[in-house]
Amino acid sequence: MDINGIREQFPILQRKVKGKDLIYLDNTATSQTPMRVVDAITRMYTTTKANVHRGVSSISQEATDLQETTRRRMARWLNAASEEEIIFTRGTTESINLVASSFGSMLEDGDEIILTVMEHHANIVPWQLLRSRRNITLRVVPINEAGELDLDVYRSLFNERTRLVSVCHVSNVLGTVNPVKDMIATAHAAGVPVLIDGAQAVPHLKVDVTDLDADFYAFSSHKMYGPTGIGVLYGKKKWLEKMPPYQGGGEMIANVTFEHTTFAELPFKFEAGTPDFVGIAALDKALDFIDEIGYDNIEAHEHHLLTYTTERLMRIPGMRIFGTAPGKSAVISFLIGHEHHYDIGMLLDTQGIEVRTGHHCAQPLMRALGVEGTVRASFAVYNTIEEADKFIAAVQRVAAMLE
Ligand code: PMP
Repeated sequence: MDINGIREQFPILQRKVKGKDLIYLDNTATSQTPMRVVDAITRMYTTTKANVHRGVSSISQEATDLQETTRRRMARWLNAASEEEIIFTRGTTESINLVASSFGSMLEDGDEIILTVMEHHANIVPWQLLRSRRNITLRVVPINEAGELDLDVYRSLFNERTRLVSVCHVSNVLGTVNPVKDMIATAHAAGVPVLIDGAQAVPHLKVDVTDLDADFYAFSSHKMYGPTGIGVLYGKKKWLEKMPPYQGGGEMIANVTFEHTTFAELPFKFEAGTPDFVGIAALDKALDFIDEIGYDNIEAHEHHLLTYTTERLMRIPGMRIFGTAPGKSAVISFLIGHEHHYDIGMLLDTQGIEVRTGHHCAQPLMRALGVEGTVRASFAVYNTIEEADKFIAAVQRVAAMLE
């Protein structure tokens, strides 16, 4: 893998923070964007900006083609049965809210949904909002010491009122890669559909929704080298056809009168209003970036960074790493002794190292781990062993300072 060639595509990696070379290790929160994506955005704003799906004018048709090219590509990329199953949203959060609102409206009092304790707030709060409209029950799968789901408990939670499982593919705190294919098979055996929050999976591993047999799969463009403000909801046609629209407005209708409105076909039924068609068009270039490197190479490189760094951090007295599941993703959540995560993060920042501190939008998980927050370092394909070395040395210095 030509790591220098990859890094050259990301101008931000050349910048300084507090006079030091930036070492960007907050890729779980958002990844950086290669120039080809930025160029595609600029090109479209300067040459091809007209609203999509708006009739016969040339530029509108060109813009529509660019948007729909990404949709077709995304369908192939995820191995979806058809492009009608690809809905563009604002992000993982909106994708999950769409299902909670639309699929959720078909639930009845007394129905149950299974979640896990390691979910991001984006996969908790929408279900609680639904609970404020329907008297549903949320069942929660716990984790073990290593940060793996307790699958015995998972299997025991199904009953005749279970209507949905909603679980993350990869934890944004622990890095655990959940056995979602098996979990989906278990749910389907009980006649229950499954939504997978793939926000932390798609940037790092190949996802095949047909192989997984996922009913819904949600993720964000900005974490996978694409533009901000765009998400994808994959949904099986059989569910999307049954589900009512999420938002009303332009683009999602077939015919409107004051008495009665009929809705557009899939996927447009779920895409009210003007989408971020510029960003959607540019997302295609982020897929080019990933495909050029290949997931095998991305996984191998990130796994090397993870094991190299974890091994060395573990030698620091008082080091506590949260999430030690085999095959985990390249996310390291840690604390040093009982030092506050915020102090560790601030001291790392003075050395040019961007990590994340706090609860990582996973307060129930923090409670289960018995901490208020952690420091989180997360890798992307452009990170290097030299950066890992600098990070390790910086954590060693911080540990010595706080001793
Ligand atoms: N789920 C997981 C597992 C995440 O890590 C995140 C982002 N941190 C989200 C959902 C929400 O993503 P977004 O803010 O892009 O909607």
